[in-house]
Amino acid sequence: MDLAIIVPCYNEEEVLTETTARLTGVLERLQQAGQISEGRILFVDDGSRDRTWTLIEQFAAADPRICGLKLSRNEGHQRALWAGLEWAASHADAAVSIDADLQDDVEAILPMVEYFRKGIDVVYGVRKERASDTFFKRNTALMFYRLVNALGGQIVYNHADFRLLSRRAMQALVSFPERNLFLRGLVPLVGYPSATVWYDRHERFAGQSKYPLKKMLSFAIDGITSFSTRPLRYITYLGLLFVLIAIGAIAYALFSYVNHDVMPGWTSLVVSVWFVGGMVLLACGIIGEYVGKIYKEVKRRPHYFVEKEAGSRFSNARTNSSSLAGDNASNLPSA
Ligand code: UDP
Ligand code: MG
Repeated sequence: MDLAIIVPCYNEEEVLTETTARLTGVLERLQQAGQISEGRILFVDDGSRDRTWTLIEQFAAADPRICGLKLSRNEGHQRALWAGLEWAASHADAAVSIDADLQDDVEAILPMVEYFRKGIDVVYGVRKERASDTFFKRNTALMFYRLVNALGGQIVYNHADFRLLSRRAMQALVSFPERNLFLRGLVPLVGYPSATVWYDRHERFAGQSKYPLKKMLSFAIDGITSFSTRPLRYITYLGLLFVLIAIGAIAYALFSYVNHDVMPGWTSLVVSVWFVGGMVLLACGIIGEYVGKIYKEVKRRPHYFVEKEAGSRFSNARTNSSSLAGDNASNLPSA
């Protein structure tokens, strides 16, 4: 089987040489062990401004196993990865995506491939603990995982974008037509058999994190809003709650008014503040409900993927590696 390793790179000149050496080492070992027939490394240069692309070109010239894709501008990690996946979906039987900075343990690729050979489509690399992250990053990440799951997303705890995908899992993934990419949340929706490989996460090999706080925050907000319309529903609930409070406040204000123990003007103020506030929120919530519906519709996500087919009609069943590139027919009912 052909294995591709996808590496998104943004200004990674400091680590790229080491990364290439380690990854080609892993490919060689896999090949010697007879686990793969061919292996490729695909670097996706996400609009770097340093020598990253020059290095990739040099590596590719020196080693036929190495290739590169250069994006026209900095599109962000998720889109760079997506570009790599689209390429791999038509060039490889399976692909492992890994960050360029060697924080993820390249050794974990070996058990991933083993799982793939046992017929598993998705292998999540999950880090054992986050000792190498700062206190802040560790805890904000934990909060984020909890929040996404509480809001109805399904992400794997402590799993970043280090994973193996079979060809059909990649094809399924790239068939999601949405523009807000949050791969971590999309992969579980593919639903094919999956497994987990545990590894220790290291310090960045060299260079700075390409995810400063600002990018992290926008990644988190994208993650939540591209999976959940629940925040909109909470506005509706809040509006309802305020209307209920308003009814109580109005009753109280009228009661006080009748008993003449109020300053002139107080009753009308209290009544209108609560009532109008509640109604405005409720109206926002109702509009939000429709916006949420539109949002879900415009994503035009595929409804399902067929995992297995049985029966004589499918005697020449399309399995893992033989499914055709871009074969959308497998998403259709088999009637
Ligand atoms: N990356 C990218 N585009 C970006 C930011 C990051 O392709 O705009 C790549 C980066 O080169 C690395 C991976 O995404 O391979 C993860 O980034 P980083 O290690 O800086 O993030 P952290 O581990 O600090 O969360
Ligand atoms: Mg990193």
